[in-house]
Amino acid sequence: MNPDTSLSLPGLSSEDSLLLLRASAEISFNSILVTGPDRRIIYANPAFCNMTGYSLNDLLGQNPKMLQGPLTEQSVIDRMNAALKTSGSFNGSTINYRKNGRPYLVEWTISPVRGDSGEVRYFISIQKDITQLHAEQSTGNLFAKAIDAAYDGIFITNADGVIEFANQGFEIITGYSPNEVVGKKPSVLKSGKHDITFYKGLWRHLSEGLPFRAMIVNRHKNGHEIHCQQTITPVKNADGRITHFISIIKDMTDRVFEELKLREQASHDSLTGLLNRRAGEIELDVALIQAQESEASFCLLMTDIDDFKAVNDTYGHPRGDQIIKAVADILMDQTRKTDKCIRWGGEEFIVLLPFCDLPKAMEIAENVRAAMADSHFDEAGRITLSIGVAESQVNDTPAGLLERVDQQLYSAKRQGKNRVVTQQDCTPLKQNDDV
Ligand code: GH3
Ligand code: MG
Ligand code: MG
Repeated sequence: MNPDTSLSLPGLSSEDSLLLLRASAEISFNSILVTGPDRRIIYANPAFCNMTGYSLNDLLGQNPKMLQGPLTEQSVIDRMNAALKTSGSFNGSTINYRKNGRPYLVEWTISPVRGDSGEVRYFISIQKDITQLHAEQSTGNLFAKAIDAAYDGIFITNADGVIEFANQGFEIITGYSPNEVVGKKPSVLKSGKHDITFYKGLWRHLSEGLPFRAMIVNRHKNGHEIHCQQTITPVKNADGRITHFISIIKDMTDRVFEELKLREQASHDSLTGLLNRRAGEIELDVALIQAQESEASFCLLMTDIDDFKAVNDTYGHPRGDQIIKAVADILMDQTRKTDKCIRWGGEEFIVLLPFCDLPKAMEIAENVRAAMADSHFDEAGRITLSIGVAESQVNDTPAGLLERVDQQLYSAKRQGKNRVVTQQDCTPLKQNDDV
């Protein structure tokens, strides 16, 4: 920097120019320090005094080294000294100390002011206390790191729903890396499991500025479903306008499956996998209500293994269990998905056949009987079933219907077993004659 030696600003006298330049330095927010070539301080502006806590008198004639202390980085000072000897300019940052001993982080630039023959006459140093800025930046970094390290998935969208940020947890849960989803909409995660009413509720909450929290079934990048507890929080600016949405997703899939397993265990028989009696009773109640509502009847089969006691006594319980499982398999094979197969007791089963008339029920029962009679078991050989069939009636109670079907089963046993029997007024499709 080679200032005009007259020190005049265009159109101003050198006196006014000097006055203005001096005033500018005095009111500058940045700290200004001027030293001679010997580095002795010859000027410090009020901002500098304010930053360091020293008065101008404290500073004049001193070496700026007075601001250094134990945490001042010597390597920065060495670089500064070297630079001032060569180019005369330097930019750097290190820790300096206020008069009261409190350290602060300073960033400064030094520029030489040269005389006509190029010799350095002064150094002007502009300084800034960046302690606060640095703290904010490091806290900001810390927050970013904490968000990234969170086990939960976090993603942020703008008001239009475009993803601007996603953390590592998001990638772990959804399979999508942040790079893959930034710029896209969260609909990449849509599983199709939620209907329009669900999304209407979601948007009503969010547009009112309220957080929305629900179990949401998302789809993983690999295609499988992920059950997530999801919280979406709208973020508003100072004018109250929503600018962003922050979503936090917690993968609850394991817990959901655990719950389903528990529910399955509570309603299913562990040996056969069929519905257990408790669940069967509920199904029967439901079937009767539906039948009354739709004024349609349904049918019920009740079956019991013939002479099973002898099988157990002769070949042992495990062999008996195998046969019970085989009956369950036959029932599942011979019935429709909508039918309910229930292990009603030890070797007694019930099948609910919704929207099925008696002739069709008889046909299904006969197929079950025949399949069992055709199978051959190790040691036990041929094992047969007796089956009772009944059709629901208007105003039936579960007990009444069960009583009727039990009577048919009893009748089948009495008639010689390995047969299907129904109410007297219905002629069985096919009656077995191979007993
Ligand atoms: P019926 O033809 O009249 O039905 O004669 P049954 O010998 O089969 O007589 P019943 O139906 O009363 O037989 C019940 C037997 O079923 C008693 C028991 O040994 C056997 N049982 C009940 N539950 C189980 C089970 O879970 N496993 C095994 N292996 N056997 C069972
Ligand atoms: Mg029995
Ligand atoms: Mg039996």
